[in-house]
Amino acid sequence: MSYQPLRGKLSAVAPAVMAALVYGCATSAPALPNLDATLWVQTAAEYEAVSRSVYESAIRSLPSALNDATRTAALEQQGSFTDLPPAVIVDVDETVLDNSPYQARLLIDGQVYDSASWASWVDEASAEAVPGALGFATAATNLGITVFYLTNRLSSQEEATRRNLESLGFPVRDDMDVILTRGERPEWTGAKISRRQAVAGTHRVLMMVGDDLNDFLDVGGLTVSERSEVTALYADYWGDRWWMLPGPTYGSWERALWDADYDLDAAERIERKVEYLDPETRTQRLEQ
Ligand SMILES: [Mg+2]
Repeated sequence: MSYQPLRGKLSAVAPAVMAALVYGCATSAPALPNLDATLWVQTAAEYEAVSRSVYESAIRSLPSALNDATRTAALEQQGSFTDLPPAVIVDVDETVLDNSPYQARLLIDGQVYDSASWASWVDEASAEAVPGALGFATAATNLGITVFYLTNRLSSQEEATRRNLESLGFPVRDDMDVILTRGERPEWTGAKISRRQAVAGTHRVLMMVGDDLNDFLDVGGLTVSERSEVTALYADYWGDRWWMLPGPTYGSWERALWDADYDLDAAERIERKVEYLDPETRTQRLEQ
């Protein structure tokens, strides 16, 4: 199924939208805040370089991680795990699959995310690989390490996700469930902790790769400053057991700016965001 844009080209978008894009809206915030973020993912060599840096470093760390049986990357790993078979846990969206075309379609069509358009995109199974991801998954598999794909895509989307991953050459074991989707089991909610527990129950988790703090530990509901504190708390994990990719187009970092309050409309969310702009110092955080 080929994609048919509503308007064809961004230049055909309503003049008011284009004016808002160029000159900013009433709050002086950009009307299309995802434009630069989406273009960065789609066009910037710098994005590609960052992703490759993360994955190439992770590949180089795999042998030592494999050989240290006392090591685990999962906070949920309990009890004796030294004899468990090795695994890595990777998130799917914006970690191994690049959904920036979906974001581009939203911008071109003047739309915002909704579950129906997202489901349609997922069903296409046409996402390309995040740069470096395929090399990492392949390297892990070649070392006898099982790759678990832990995603908040719905269980009804597992087949399309498998199709997409396999079409790109990602290793997907068929002798065990390695695509762990949201709702697949009653306890597998959007918080990924129960699924990390499930993997840690059968495998030693060498590394985790994601583009959102929630891919590593449950930070649902934390404020901006609390997210910063917890990130610093696990300083030793980053670039060693935990590997973070850039996710500039959406994520819990963005929802934290408007307290994940879905009662707020788009303008109100932008107002909350603008309050976080700090003209003095990057490290200053609003008191919550
Ligand atoms: Mg993700």
